[in-house]
Amino acid sequence: MHILLVEDDDELASRLARGLGQAGFVIERASDGHDGLELALQPQMDVIVLDLGLPGKSGLEVLREIRSRGITTPVLVLTARGTWADKVGGLNDGADDYLTKPFHLPELIARLNALRRRTGGHASSALLFEDLSLNIASGEVTRDGVPLDLTALELRMLKYFMHRVRHVVSQNDLVEHLYSVDDMRESNTIEVYISRLRRKIGPDKIKTIRGLGYRFG
Ligand code: CA
Repeated sequence: MHILLVEDDDELASRLARGLGQAGFVIERASDGHDGLELALQPQMDVIVLDLGLPGKSGLEVLREIRSRGITTPVLVLTARGTWADKVGGLNDGADDYLTKPFHLPELIARLNALRRRTGGHASSALLFEDLSLNIASGEVTRDGVPLDLTALELRMLKYFMHRVRHVVSQNDLVEHLYSVDDMRESNTIEVYISRLRRKIGPDKIKTIRGLGYRFG
């Protein structure tokens, strides 16, 4: 099981990483909110362990942003505060479980396993936007519940956009991301793929931002 540990207390993070590693988990670490968010967007994460008090971006901000981008990876929040208000706030923002510091490693392990069981891990991870749903594990895309027939390249393009909702993506970014070195790297073919994708997912989801590129959502 792949765990993302977002914790700025270096000593605690090292201790947890060591203990979880010995228990057979694969750990990725981030020590501030920005790195945490970036790693949280990676589809291979099974559970995110998120400290609330983080430099850069707070844990709650990270959580909100993860959920607003349609990432459904279960999140276990670590809180030193343990106050009722924090817990209610976090639950509303999409946390799946809580652990108040200090805690014992076996308790964290038990909760991680329970979360994984409850959510079925990856199989349930889907990127959602309006009527679109993209299952990360199977690559299946549905629009309003109806499966869409996308080519591998269209799927890759859509996944790229759905990870970057409301961000401007340049043609260059797309070329870099979509084509391997052997493929033709012509940015005018991007236009062609975009218009094909628009026909399948609905015309208004990908906007052309003149001179800059495209924006999804
Ligand atoms: Ca902290």
